[in-house]
Amino acid sequence: MVGEHYRSLLKDVSTLAEVDNYSRWRQQESETLSDLVQNRLEELQNPPNWFTAKQLLCKLEKGCGFGCQLHHIVYCFIVAYSTQRMLVLDYKHWVYGDIWQEIFLPLSDSKTLLKNVSIDQWPGNQDSQIIHLPPVDYVYPKPYFLPQIIPDDLAERLTVLHGDPIVWWIGQIVKYLLRPRKSTINLLNDYAKKLKFQKPIVGVHIRRTDKLISEAQLHTLDEYMVHVENYYKQKELSGEVNQKRIYLATDEPILFDEAKRKYPEYEIVGSDDISKTASLRNRNSKNALQGLIVDIHFLSLSDHLVCTFSSQLCRIAYEIMNSLYPDASTRYTSLDDIYYFGGQNYRLNEAVLSHKTNNQYEIDLQVGDQIYVFGNHWNGYSKGKNLRTKRIGYSENPIGKNYR
Ligand code: GDP
Repeated sequence: MVGEHYRSLLKDVSTLAEVDNYSRWRQQESETLSDLVQNRLEELQNPPNWFTAKQLLCKLEKGCGFGCQLHHIVYCFIVAYSTQRMLVLDYKHWVYGDIWQEIFLPLSDSKTLLKNVSIDQWPGNQDSQIIHLPPVDYVYPKPYFLPQIIPDDLAERLTVLHGDPIVWWIGQIVKYLLRPRKSTINLLNDYAKKLKFQKPIVGVHIRRTDKLISEAQLHTLDEYMVHVENYYKQKELSGEVNQKRIYLATDEPILFDEAKRKYPEYEIVGSDDISKTASLRNRNSKNALQGLIVDIHFLSLSDHLVCTFSSQLCRIAYEIMNSLYPDASTRYTSLDDIYYFGGQNYRLNEAVLSHKTNNQYEIDLQVGDQIYVFGNHWNGYSKGKNLRTKRIGYSENPIGKNYR
């Protein structure tokens, strides 16, 4: 019954948003803001006088997956934007180097790194013409403008428009970075036809294999499907759902068979061939990168996402999704982490009620205490640190729980 009341309230809230006569305004405002940011990024990347332009050099040498690499570039771009330097990427040692350039447009129309100019190390100074920025793990102290933060001059408009402006902002950076070439648009259109991608559809990303070694817990398919079912129950309140669908993306191909066997009432959209290219030893091939782009594309186009935010891949799909809707901040369910950006500055929460510990694992709170939340355990508790007492708390004994 609680579930029904909850869904009914959500339906009322979404109906309010439809009848308040602002939906057209929201759409327009979102497009205007997006154009504004995209133009700024384009201007930054194409300075009128290239010879005197200040540049920020980022080397792509991180040994990690696509999502992790892309977020590294996002971090570089945010630093470039905040310091008003043109971003130049050094693809030389990058696993995706050539393939990337075949799939996406370059960051700048023509010019790249200035030749015969000395390169200063971060933070350099105002006069440095080129500054080399290391990965975020090696930058200390961290600049204040790293996520989760948004440009001051957009803040007022964004907070009116969007439920989580930070994700919108990162989504805009990703949008610029992933501007597809014509051939990539054709590839995505072909896949849309081949896979018969249509709405309503829930994007389900299930990350397994190497991620389960130390970075995330295993979640069964059924755990994801509970949230998919909830989405469709909610959807049925506003009209009939003729066919329930999921777009399944995973690095574990056997899940396609499991999904078809256990959920025959669902249309399972997606490709187990793509999934096979996601195995650890194939990941750096052109095939695998194309497959990955296809998966991310359709996940982001879905009506709702069910995944684990411990995976960078799903966070990217969610970021892109937020560049497609005026506000997609509630179109996800994460089975583990809350949204975060790797290497981010503290995102603080303030205690509005006091709390006395019930056991040795919890922490005391006083009204006004600043709390850094590491992760949500979805049992009503989070792991957090009280910056006043410096104590870290959980709801229960964390040993053996793999709590993040
Ligand atoms: P994370 O490790 O999940 O945080 O994300 P990364 O993107 O950094 O690394 C995971 C890598 O696994 C990706 O870059 C892909 O190569 C592969 N992968 C994981 N899940 C999928 C999936 O659903 N589809 C495809 N095509 N590849 C995947």
